[in-house]
Amino acid sequence: MTYISWFNEHALKHKTIVDKLLKNGLSKEAIVDYFDFDNMVKEEKDFCLLYQDNKKCHDMDSLNCYLCACPHFRFNDTGRVEGSKIKFSHCSIDSKYGSFFENDNKLHQDCTKCEIPHKKSYILKHFDYDFKKIMKDCSSF
Ligand code: SF4
Repeated sequence: MTYISWFNEHALKHKTIVDKLLKNGLSKEAIVDYFDFDNMVKEEKDFCLLYQDNKKCHDMDSLNCYLCACPHFRFNDTGRVEGSKIKFSHCSIDSKYGSFFENDNKLHQDCTKCEIPHKKSYILKHFDYDFKKIMKDCSSF
């Protein structure tokens, strides 16, 4: 699966849920709370492959899935040559919690140790009902 196809598919799932919650009259904060992992794993099983195993992508007590993907994530499905490597994704803020997966000189951003976009306070600070608006710069690498 390419980054862009995952991105578009995920944005659609996100929009479907947010539209439903808005129709039910939920506030901005209630919508963010709805995306808490413990609730999503019960209510929105198709949102993330990990839900079927009740598994979190990050080892956090309170993990929020509203900003799965990250506004700082940058991807390019064709890759960019950097010396002897080809980079397909990176972190635009060079988070100290981020690193790279490397395979066959291909570099992909590794966010597994970074909790930045999964905290409720961060989500409320960068909030928009439209997932693609929050992620508008992600495909600009
Ligand atoms: S390392 Fe952290 S801040 Fe950077 S793209 Fe990944 S999740 Fe976002």
